[in-house]
Amino acid sequence: MVLYARSDVSGVGVPVDGGGCGAFHRRPVIEGRLAKLFAIDCQPCESYLRLRLPDQWTNNRWDIPLTPDEVLQADMLEKQAKRLQQQETSERARESARSIAEHYNDPYEANLPSFLDAERISRVGSIEEPPVVDPDAVSARLAQLDDEVDPAVLSMPQLRKRCAEAGLSTGGKKVDLINRLRAEG
Ligand SMILES: [Zn+2]
Repeated sequence: MVLYARSDVSGVGVPVDGGGCGAFHRRPVIEGRLAKLFAIDCQPCESYLRLRLPDQWTNNRWDIPLTPDEVLQADMLEKQAKRLQQQETSERARESARSIAEHYNDPYEANLPSFLDAERISRVGSIEEPPVVDPDAVSARLAQLDDEVDPAVLSMPQLRKRCAEAGLSTGGKKVDLINRLRAEG
């Protein structure tokens, strides 16, 4: 079995009369730095360490005990995360409150019965009707804008469509269609 050491254990030696192998097991050094992972595979030492120092050694690579520093750090990070979450939540709440307030103060929304009250009506003054939009007028205006566009910027299918609408021939090259439309005015 393999036994993994806490990150602050740089080495361990269990004497023979203590049940160990007597050798010193050292955390490996990789490129001049102590390796992140330090594991021993030494039956006699393992039995001793697992029993006597369970807060420093474990068989589970994914559950290596934390050093007091790491515990503090984890604790701090957790608190920080909670604080950020709270900030975000209250920021969202403030935003909702703001948009609700804006909604209430919008005269166009004033005809919503549940929001009607004497105080708000006096604040808004008179209730304005939203402008009525005639869909026919809109399409007429759009068509007019379309006609004002210079034919040179149109695509071939658009040019053919415009020619056909103007009762002109739709044959020929792009330049012919453009000239035909321009000549038509
Ligand atoms: Zn050993």
